[in-house]
Amino acid sequence: MSDLLNVVILGSGCAGNTAAIYTARANLQPLLIEGQEPGGQLSITTDVENFPGFPEGIQGPQLIENMKQQAQRFGASYSDGRILHADLSKRPFTLEVDNGDKIQTRTLIVATGASARWLGLPNEQKLIGHGVSSCATCDGFFFRNRKVMVIGGGDSAMEEANFLSRFGSEVAVVHRSENFRASRIMLDRARANPKVQFITNTIVEDIYDVGKGEVTGVKLRNVKTHESYDREVHGFFVAIGHIPNTRPFAGQLDLDTDGYIISHGGARTNIGGVFHAGDVQDRSYRQAITAAGAGCMAAIEAERFLEAEGH
Ligand code: NDP
Repeated sequence: MSDLLNVVILGSGCAGNTAAIYTARANLQPLLIEGQEPGGQLSITTDVENFPGFPEGIQGPQLIENMKQQAQRFGASYSDGRILHADLSKRPFTLEVDNGDKIQTRTLIVATGASARWLGLPNEQKLIGHGVSSCATCDGFFFRNRKVMVIGGGDSAMEEANFLSRFGSEVAVVHRSENFRASRIMLDRARANPKVQFITNTIVEDIYDVGKGEVTGVKLRNVKTHESYDREVHGFFVAIGHIPNTRPFAGQLDLDTDGYIISHGGARTNIGGVFHAGDVQDRSYRQAITAAGAGCMAAIEAERFLEAEGH
């Protein structure tokens, strides 16, 4: 069992790193446990052009590395590993890490993020950042006058299709059935968009990168007629939902039906001393800058909580 810590931060995306910078500068000597996807979603992004302060853009992994160095400069510690179990029933909280560590902490900032759901196609992971994306707001700009495709039939898919129509020469929404989970208004808006075309009852069987290392096309199959055919595509946006990384907290933190943390105001959860930051609570904005802002809020709340308790 390690010494009792003031602050442990779970997750190393924008939210976790920003919480580390703020709590380190407040002299709380935070420990950040990096989690299963070190660097979070930015670690699998290439150019980030919408994070303020970088007029020429910055590579996602570099932005994360910069934040980490900034936090370490003020005394934050980083540890690799993933939380296996968290006991939040009494204070201090106890965390079991998969590297064998058992940690006790006065406050906890949960910034474990949400992972995009993927189709699981052979080339999909390899082509992330090279035409395959799960975020139109982040990557749509790179497909000006190019052919893009969105997979999914929910609100995310409709929102992405409408957004991408500002850039792409054409936007094809491919959905595996003809029943849409998307709300009526979002669906109607996409249907009324002259650049958006719907391909229903259809699944993607393969993503091609013929000799280029970037997306060149896809193989589609109509599940009713069983007909397969190829289609030229340059931007392939997967919008089939996200999975919040909250499993170790189930039954302790208030979670909604999809597993997202329910906020109890500001960065507070239902448990005093446990705070949320970033996509683990946010199903709406999901941006690097909003996650960073949420990390700052959680850090300030943790600091105030400790101060009120006389630490
Ligand atoms: P949803 O779960 O609502 O929709 C997921 C879609 O992906 C469904 O059409 C589903 O198809 C499809 N899908 C799932 N798995 C696969 C697969 N393996 N292959 C092919 N298709 C698949 O997720 P969203 O991200 O769209 O939305 C999540 C929540 O966020 C919702 O509550 C939504 O309302 C909300 N939201 C709201 C927005 C807004 O109001 N502006 C914007 C974005 C999201 P099927 O139906 O056949 O299962």
